[in-house]
Amino acid sequence: MAAGAYFQGSTSTWVRYSDYEFRQINTGTTFVSPSVNAIPEVYDPLLDVDAMVTAAINAGMLCINRESDEKIRKAVSDFVARYGLVGLISAKQAEPRPSDNISFFPFDNHIPDAVVLPSIHEGTPETVKLGFSRNYAERYDWLVKFFRELAYSFCSYLLYYGEYGEIDSDARAMCARGVNGIFGEATIPQCHIELKEKPILVWDFCSLSQALCMALGLMMADESQPLRACRFCGKIFLAGHPLAAFCDPKCKNKYNVYKSRDKKAGKE
Ligand SMILES: [Zn+2]
Repeated sequence: MAAGAYFQGSTSTWVRYSDYEFRQINTGTTFVSPSVNAIPEVYDPLLDVDAMVTAAINAGMLCINRESDEKIRKAVSDFVARYGLVGLISAKQAEPRPSDNISFFPFDNHIPDAVVLPSIHEGTPETVKLGFSRNYAERYDWLVKFFRELAYSFCSYLLYYGEYGEIDSDARAMCARGVNGIFGEATIPQCHIELKEKPILVWDFCSLSQALCMALGLMMADESQPLRACRFCGKIFLAGHPLAAFCDPKCKNKYNVYKSRDKKAGKE
């Protein structure tokens, strides 16, 4: 069962802008923030939660596989364009601190008023709302670190169950730590019920990173293993059926071609 199935009948809200840009401050640190004229939009991240988790882990996999900076930057840029910034300001601490000026508002000399958008739940903490403001920015290296940690957690899980008989107890203990690294800072999300035509469970995530960690946790604990690594290219994909082993029919074909070549080579 994919994570989307666990969230059926429930919603959540997050904010994404129509456009983001990469900007550097004079110390050389790069930030990602909404572009000057970008338009904010409230959306439900749970509608597409499986694709969101897959995109985040695949961005992190590029870092683990030491792919080029260009590829990693594109994956992070694509993720942010689709789902918005991940809310690191709330993931890191409960209250904004003076240093947040530099960490999250590097292009301003003050923390702005929180953005007010209709359809954002009135109980949403101020820190979360600050993360929705136009001049809020997230450090690019922190975003990369988050995606890498998410992928590392998933790789640890794959290694533990895929190679259980092959790895020793030290390696198993390392996997257990690796899987749980992402949950250290995540707090338990709040939720409430909205009385619409029928009752709806609304998840009040304090950050998109919290939603991603929770969805990944649900998927890892699922016996049907909805998230898998493609046997040919290693890309993480959502399994459409119980025996799915490839992210794409092209990967299946290539895998079979290489396998039959290897067989022939072995016979000769
Ligand atoms: Zn593949």
